[in-house]
Amino acid sequence: SLSDSLDKTFRNLRGVGKISEKNIADALREIRIALLEADVEFGVAKDFISRVKEKAMGEDVLKSIKPGEQIVKIFHDELEALLGGDQAPLDLNPPARILICGLNGAGKTTTSAKLANRLKKEGRRPLLIACDLYRPAAIDQLAVLAKQIDVPCYTPDASESDVVKVAKDALAWAEKQQGTVLIFDTAGRQEIDEKLILELKRLHDFVKPKETLLVADSATGQQAVSVAEHFDGAVGITGIILTKLDGDARGGAALSMRAVTGKPIKYAGEGEKLDQLFEFHPSRMADRILGMGDIVGMVEQVADKVNEADAMRSMKRMQEGKFDFTDFLDQMKMIQNLGPLEGLLGLMPGFSKIKKQLPAGAFDNKKIKRTEAIVLSMTLEERTRPEIIKGSRRQRIADGSGTTLMEVNQLIKQFGEMRKMMKSPTKMGNMMKQLGGAP
Ligand code: GDP
Ligand code: MG
Repeated sequence: SLSDSLDKTFRNLRGVGKISEKNIADALREIRIALLEADVEFGVAKDFISRVKEKAMGEDVLKSIKPGEQIVKIFHDELEALLGGDQAPLDLNPPARILICGLNGAGKTTTSAKLANRLKKEGRRPLLIACDLYRPAAIDQLAVLAKQIDVPCYTPDASESDVVKVAKDALAWAEKQQGTVLIFDTAGRQEIDEKLILELKRLHDFVKPKETLLVADSATGQQAVSVAEHFDGAVGITGIILTKLDGDARGGAALSMRAVTGKPIKYAGEGEKLDQLFEFHPSRMADRILGMGDIVGMVEQVADKVNEADAMRSMKRMQEGKFDFTDFLDQMKMIQNLGPLEGLLGLMPGFSKIKKQLPAGAFDNKKIKRTEAIVLSMTLEERTRPEIIKGSRRQRIADGSGTTLMEVNQLIKQFGEMRKMMKSPTKMGNMMKQLGGAP
């Protein structure tokens, strides 16, 4: 995938002590290939590379202490700019009307419901309006989804064939419903054709939406980009919702979309469930493409699993130098909770370094169980004052926990080293800095 190729290229670059223009040129060539393989539009890839090159070849980069890191940063910032810079919010000033358009199967109906779900959670009162009169099942599909999220839905008669008439009736209905945001789900086609565009134009002229959002399937790559251009030319889109990002390993559509159309990607669909629509943040997407993982999203996930009060207490005790085996056990349990996230955590810039400092097998469930058994076989006094655990006590603990003397010795040694590290302000500071992701 794009992330993998970039990750490799940057690892090579970071590994070089002194960077030459040749190193940069080599890296950029690899990046260019990776972009094209990810189905990024040729012109976009070319311009992008030349912008990065110009900045990376700058005097101060080559002379800086960590040129590799600097180049990664330049790359990240350019990627973020390419993706649109800041997150683009919806215009929801009254009368807030959103017209959803796109090809068949892009995800319009699903996305209409997802968007209604989001807006509802934000405290608004969305209404869904079914304007796909071509596929008989389309109206029912929207009505079923609307019911799942408990949002009112306008469903025209199956015999109705004029979308403008439907929109007119829907506006009268919406008035009574006291909705604050109206979402119009429309018909699509396999491909763009004149009839579809004409109908959409008529609907657009009548509804006068504040937002006309194109729903595009990211897995279709460059085709999604040309579809966006086409719809924009016809009705003037205000933004894009990229769907199926969960399944698209290449990511090319996301990268070309903004540069080619000039329109912001406002949301991303990442799954079939109705809560799987997310605001599109160029910076987070740049992190993701760079293989750093969606750090913010990840931290949120971690925060869910770690009890903050426990973490703070344990941190405070570390700082006070009072860290004992009871705290150690608490920490082990925290790490255990993080277990399923180990892979994700590995993507965080600072975490791979931290992981090296954790006891070997910190994420190994069997090992955690044995360590836990050892600590539980200690008396309370031994847990708070580990220095008293000498020869015969160690044998007793080993016997009691069903482990070996060697394992007990190892654990006590490790614990001693951890404690020493915690007492050293510089080492502790370094560890915190790494956790913060600082280079
Ligand atoms: P429409 O023809 O544009 O209205 O498309 P639909 O809303 O009917 O969606 C077509 C298919 O794509 C359905 O099976 C959806 O569940 C699926 N789909 C929509 N958005 C996403 C997404 O973000 N991720 C995944 N994996 N599937 C999606
Ligand atoms: Mg549909």
